Amino acid sequence: MRFFSDFQRILSGYPAPAKLLAVFSVSCGGVIAYADSQSGEITSLQQNQKAMAKKRVLVLGTGWAGTSFLKDLDISSYDVQVVSPRNYFAFTPLLPSVTCGTVEARSIVEPVRNIIKKRKGEIKFWEAECLKIDTANKKVYCQSSVDANLAGNNDFSLEYDYLVVAIGAQVNTFNTPGVYEHCHFLKEVEDAQRIRRTVIDCFEKAVLPELNKEDQMTNLHFVIVGGGPTGVEFAAELHDFIHEDLLSIYPSVKDLVRISIIQSGDHILNMFDERISSFAELKFRRDGIEVLTGHRVLSVSERIINMKQVSTGENISIPHGMVVWSTGVGTRPVVKDFMEQIGQGNRRVLATDEWLRVKGCEDVYALGDCATVDQRKIMEDISVIFKAADKDSSGTLTIEEFKDVIEDIMIRYPQVELYLKNKHLFDVTDLMKDMNGSDKTEIDVESFKLALSQVDKQTKNLPATAQVASQQGAYLAKCFNTWEKCKSNPEGPRKFRSGGRHEFRPFQYRHLGQFAPLGGEQAAAELPGDWVSIGHSTQWLWYSVYASKQVSWRTRFLVIGDWFRRFTFGRDSSRI
Ligand code: FAD
Ligand code: MG
Repeated sequence: MRFFSDFQRILSGYPAPAKLLAVFSVSCGGVIAYADSQSGEITSLQQNQKAMAKKRVLVLGTGWAGTSFLKDLDISSYDVQVVSPRNYFAFTPLLPSVTCGTVEARSIVEPVRNIIKKRKGEIKFWEAECLKIDTANKKVYCQSSVDANLAGNNDFSLEYDYLVVAIGAQVNTFNTPGVYEHCHFLKEVEDAQRIRRTVIDCFEKAVLPELNKEDQMTNLHFVIVGGGPTGVEFAAELHDFIHEDLLSIYPSVKDLVRISIIQSGDHILNMFDERISSFAELKFRRDGIEVLTGHRVLSVSERIINMKQVSTGENISIPHGMVVWSTGVGTRPVVKDFMEQIGQGNRRVLATDEWLRVKGCEDVYALGDCATVDQRKIMEDISVIFKAADKDSSGTLTIEEFKDVIEDIMIRYPQVELYLKNKHLFDVTDLMKDMNGSDKTEIDVESFKLALSQVDKQTKNLPATAQVASQQGAYLAKCFNTWEKCKSNPEGPRKFRSGGRHEFRPFQYRHLGQFAPLGGEQAAAELPGDWVSIGHSTQWLWYSVYASKQVSWRTRFLVIGDWFRRFTFGRDSSRI
């Protein structure tokens, strides 16, 4: 944390291009530390033996989860194939910047084949969409997304030994009428490019001769549905684009532009710390961005958006020039079909265990937005844990017996650590204290159950973020890389039911904090250790973090170059 505050202090007081230079240097240093290393020579005999024993790994998707898995996987041990309808990786956190031309679309994408080339080209990539997963025959059926008019068949199937499903999610319209037909989404690079063109269209249409004021105002009303991080960031970007670049070139409609955010909950950014959401609401009010909290959209038509005020039940209709729909994520059809096959049809996303293995399905892993980790509850195993811990079968646990199992318990059930933290208990043996806080030397099974009875309430679903997806990809690659070693020398926690140990430690998410850019060169950040940072210096922290997180030097140069361009010349308003 010291680093961040020192860094912010050093940055303040310098002009923008100088700050960018500093950001560039810091981010470059960060990435050198992350750089992949591959070393070691393998003789040709060893190579042949390895090739014969190689298992086939099939990866579906080239987003955050799939790419992070591929970057870390030891490809000399596996025969790797990748299927994705997108032959590039997109750095989604910068998509809102693409909508207004702060950053160009090509600056935030990295071709998959470049990533493969760096891995010595041993990964095979097929640009296609997976249409069906057949786990009984360990096959997937795919269809190429390349122009059907080209020669040859578009359909093919692939066999696998291990399947890694990382196909993300699609937008969730909650079946609201008119959303697919009349709203923009902000999920893919193409969506961001479409939004950029539409914003310019709205302005060009509004300034045409003979348009009345009402039509001009309709065209210049930009509505964002969803007050989550993406909706808020887009609203902020759009506000800056309009006020810093467009109003000076469309002066006749200066006073007619409106931006509104519709949010069903009571606050925008409600997944962030309260201080951040209040700051964002206050800043938006000052900037003239209308925030309509407690409103649920009922339908959208070409020019009108209909909604209901939740508290009063009143129906309201407002005209719009453009609506951006940004409300959560839904399941892709191929995942839905797969879930039905394996008895998970009633769920919203694929359930995996803590090792990212799809439940009810052999040799299939799922990560990223298409899956959720179903954390096992400690109360389901409490009696077996007690029995395993009670080594002398006395019917009670001594502190020593408890200490002997606690490490395995903490690894297997991470909710215990969260519980201790929330209760400000510094030592696990505090759990053995009685109601009055006095130490107990032994506890029986009922007291043991009582001590841990509230722990499972701390279990939380992981958010659908790039951070989770990329950590899962890296974790799974590590498991694949150390498989042979861990079979004979397991590194996971004790199996309380069946005896022995798990081969690997379960996946554990480490939250590194999250940002919310709020426009006007200001951002808010929630950093580990319940730190909140808001303001101009946080925006500079945002620049350096996002520059350092780029997947390649090429995109890092391009993104930082775009920021320089924007600071120097402003954003481009051409309709391309
Ligand atoms: P994706 O990254 O969506 O990748 C899915 C991949 O699967 C894609 O390559 C896709 O082409 C491919 N695919 C789709 N269908 C098929 C199919 N049928 N067969 C084969 N392949 C298929 N998260 C953060 O942590 N921080 C942020 O600041 C942030 N900002 C965001 C801003 C925006 C505008 C958006 C949309 C998201 C943002 N996120 C952010 C969320 C983050 O992008 C997602 O959580 C992350 O992309 C999930 O990774 P994934 O690999 O599961 O899915
Ligand atoms: Mg005992």
